[in-house]
Amino acid sequence: MAFSGALTLTDLNDFITPSQACIKPVDQTNKAEPKDPGAASTEILVDSAGSYYEVSADSLKTNTASQKKLETAEVSLNDCLACSGCITSAESVLITLQSHTEVLNFLAQNPSRPDPSHKIPIVSVAPQSLASLAASISSTSTATPVTLHQVLRRVQAFCETVLGFEHVFDTTFARHIALLEHAREFQERKKGEGALPMLSSACPGWVCYAEKTHAEMLPFISRTKSPQQVMGTLVKQWLRRKWGKRPNQIYHVSVMPCYDKKLEASRHDFYNEAYSTRDVDCVITTGELERMMREKGWNLSIPVTGEDDLGIRTNGTGSSPSLSSLTLEECDQNLDTIIPELITHPGTSSGSYLHSLIVMLMGTSDDLELNVRNIRSADYEEYTLTHRLSREIVFRGAKCYGFRNLQNVVRKVGRDAGVQVGRGAAGRLGGLRGKGVRTRKNAGGDAAGTPEKGYDYVEVMACPGGCANGGGQIRPPVRSNVDEEGYKRDWESSGVAMDVDLPIQGQSAKWGDREWTKKVEEMYWHGLPTPPPSPTLDHGNLRIGTDAKRHFADLLALEVLKETCNPAVSIDDMVWTSSMNEEAEAKRRTLFRTQYRAVESEVVGLAVKW
Ligand code: SF4
Repeated sequence: MAFSGALTLTDLNDFITPSQACIKPVDQTNKAEPKDPGAASTEILVDSAGSYYEVSADSLKTNTASQKKLETAEVSLNDCLACSGCITSAESVLITLQSHTEVLNFLAQNPSRPDPSHKIPIVSVAPQSLASLAASISSTSTATPVTLHQVLRRVQAFCETVLGFEHVFDTTFARHIALLEHAREFQERKKGEGALPMLSSACPGWVCYAEKTHAEMLPFISRTKSPQQVMGTLVKQWLRRKWGKRPNQIYHVSVMPCYDKKLEASRHDFYNEAYSTRDVDCVITTGELERMMREKGWNLSIPVTGEDDLGIRTNGTGSSPSLSSLTLEECDQNLDTIIPELITHPGTSSGSYLHSLIVMLMGTSDDLELNVRNIRSADYEEYTLTHRLSREIVFRGAKCYGFRNLQNVVRKVGRDAGVQVGRGAAGRLGGLRGKGVRTRKNAGGDAAGTPEKGYDYVEVMACPGGCANGGGQIRPPVRSNVDEEGYKRDWESSGVAMDVDLPIQGQSAKWGDREWTKKVEEMYWHGLPTPPPSPTLDHGNLRIGTDAKRHFADLLALEVLKETCNPAVSIDDMVWTSSMNEEAEAKRRTLFRTQYRAVESEVVGLAVKW
């Protein structure tokens, strides 16, 4: 069984909250009887096959085994989400419920058209997954480097011709919408409609962690859906209408860089009760997609016909002239048939959330100056916008990746906002003072004693290095079948490629391999003006909206908003941030935002000793 690389015991310093035991190891079918003081006590034993037995203590003493086999509990994904102990140890359950095997089973059982029970199978692939695949192709000594565009075309060819998917998208248009909605939410919070600083919400590793261990942080976490879930909305609420289908007549698979995205897709908020369907039906990791390719004999390093043609595809099939060659009028005319692919958002390879806000705040004037300060490493950087004349800091943001840094940020945000930072769902919400207003006691400051401005925004990601280093990404190829601690490992069955051309020494399949993450980053930014890992301070490079693709994406996003929310009155010069009538705004909140809830905890995961 292939587990997330994030689970390897060699990387415990960034482990989430390990639990020693599941809360539902066995099913208790009968209510506990009131205890009779004279009654015999029992113990539970586990045999070598993993079966549980209830054994009377008396029979143990006398060695007369009288035992009752206990039924193994069925642990559903919701049980795991409600469990106070862990995120990661639930992954074995997730792998069963959301796995590439599940996808293959669905495809095998999906009736062909025109059977009325046929579901349209769709795949949405994260750009970080494409970068990981590109890195794995480029890592072999014989391969020539490939672009994300080429990899996307090869993945499309595999999914469509071998697996039978009808549409294959990447998730960058969904991310474009997520960034627009997220900027709108930030503006609302600035106006006092919500707490500041705003903490990003695209990483379910971080959000689930906050729900389980830092409930006091929940008011700060952005309500905007992640690109995966916005893609779910697009597929099940927007595209399906164009195709004249109901949400449950589409089977939507997403390919993501981590296992935590499986948890995210399984959240109750993303389940459509009316049609008994999820916005994303199944999530597989990059490693699982790569494994499917290997199992089906598909060689991703072999080019496919037309992969260098930069023409765009019309709703996943056919091709049309290059988007960058379209005029604005042509963009308007093509809104119904084109979903822009691989839209670049300068900033970070984890979604560019912080940088999209910086771009918005900088606007088109040169009044603000951007400065970057490295706090600990490239994983913890502060970005400030200072007014050139008054020298007033008008925005302070941070990029914070990895759980070690995240702990520091949680403490800092709690201190600045005057909330008690605790562990577990018992984290105190009541202490939140002045929503939207920072009530700083002191956290540094200048020599004159003026307190340092607190954060307005933090882009939080659970993985060190961000999504390029997600636990579901492809591991660097290895030759040795022995891991760093000297244990024999069956790498191939864990989805790790073996490369006979590589020298043995120093090669490992360790999660978090910096050199490998750097390579994935390079692939992610390959051929783009923004170098990894962060944008330059060059004003021009930070601007969004100058290229045709992003302009087209803005127009199409607006179309999506109008078609899904149906504003009662048309708004002149409408943009994504325009306010619509109340009913349409309520729809917007349902379609593009989400909610969180604290998970009651009886176990403090971090207190568990291994
Ligand atoms: Fe997943 Fe890691 Fe990215 Fe979070 S940072 S979304 S856990 S890959």
